[in-house]
Amino acid sequence: MIKIEGLHKSYPIGKDSLHVLKGLDLHIKEGEFVSIMGSSGSGKSTLLNIVGLLDTHDEGNYFLNGQLIQNLNEKKAAVLRNKFLGFVFQSFNLISYKTALENVALPLYYKGMGRKERLKIAQEYLEKVELGPWANHLPNELSGGQKQRVAIARALVTNPKVILADEPTGALDSKTTDSVMDLLKGINDEGMTVFVITHEEDVAEQTNRIVRLKDGVIISDEYTKAGKLKTVK
Ligand code: ADP
Ligand code: MG
Repeated sequence: MIKIEGLHKSYPIGKDSLHVLKGLDLHIKEGEFVSIMGSSGSGKSTLLNIVGLLDTHDEGNYFLNGQLIQNLNEKKAAVLRNKFLGFVFQSFNLISYKTALENVALPLYYKGMGRKERLKIAQEYLEKVELGPWANHLPNELSGGQKQRVAIARALVTNPKVILADEPTGALDSKTTDSVMDLLKGINDEGMTVFVITHEEDVAEQTNRIVRLKDGVIISDEYTKAGKLKTVK
């Protein structure tokens, strides 16, 4: 699903450049539930942004669903994102003046779907994350965990191949963290590839495979106890 070979990324900082990713190799197969662990500044978001076609790499190869990613303009990148990827962020990124239902329906609007149909599908996804009765509430009427569940429903609504989550539990307390991770696990059990960034060990342990990033290189890549029960071929 995601294959990376010798990936490098630097950012220009003034006259210098900051070398953030220093030759990463990573292969994530369809149906895996993988976390990237690393301390703040280790390059996790940089990696996820490249995988999510929100940023470009400098060197190396990136294959998404078998397709070599190169020379993408923003329009082509957007097409691939809409087709394959769903995003979840630490800060939820919900639109404050739209209801939970409208937030979930928004990606379908961008796909050109009519209002009645997209609200019907959005309602199904809200029910999937157990927020059916909250459909007409605004984000500021929801708890942090509920907001993240709305964001997850929004990520799922276009039926992507991969969910990319950048610190999805970073703003949540430990109990809510577990419920969000349980939801992601349930989604993975249904076959979705899920790729989570975290700097919290107990969050990473709830995934099936932990990739550790330090100073721009992968220092380990191992299946967890949960993952051994369900190793992806
Ligand atoms: P993490 O998500 O692991 O905390 P990031 O990938 O966000 O790490 O950042 C890695 C390094 O790259 C940090 O030193 C950060 O300051 C730098 N960085 C991230 N994004 C940019 C950017 N757009 N421009 C310049 N430097 C950046
Ligand atoms: Mg980050």
